[in-house]
Amino acid sequence: MKKLEHIGIAVKNLEQANKLFANLLGREQYKIESVESEGVKTSFFDVSGVKIELLEATTTDSAIKKFIEKRGEGIHHIAFEVDNIRESIKHYQQLGFQLIGNEPKKGADNKLICFLHPRSTQGVLIELCQEITGP
Ligand code: ZN
Repeated sequence: MKKLEHIGIAVKNLEQANKLFANLLGREQYKIESVESEGVKTSFFDVSGVKIELLEATTTDSAIKKFIEKRGEGIHHIAFEVDNIRESIKHYQQLGFQLIGNEPKKGADNKLICFLHPRSTQGVLIELCQEITGP
């Protein structure tokens, strides 16, 4: 893992949450982005290099909707940046961690992402992310 990249927070209403976090952090979000494949709308705040990602469900089968129904709003995942996500997937599988899918997916904020199942990480959903470089 290179560094803590962001903390993902599940929210019911992104517009409200954006206002709250803008007040809390003393800055505006730098990006709002929908990821249709994941059924989420996201916004990002940069806090000196570590980001806060707010996630609102946009579909009825969105993982964020299910999460909020089960556990309420709050911290959904912690994301770490890696150099090579495909190598990291293999590495963590070999160490016995349970991955959600074997292939990285395109996530928000120009990233390839993959998740480690919370069953294998003390109940914390861990995201691996790699910045997409080039066109
Ligand atoms: Zn994330």
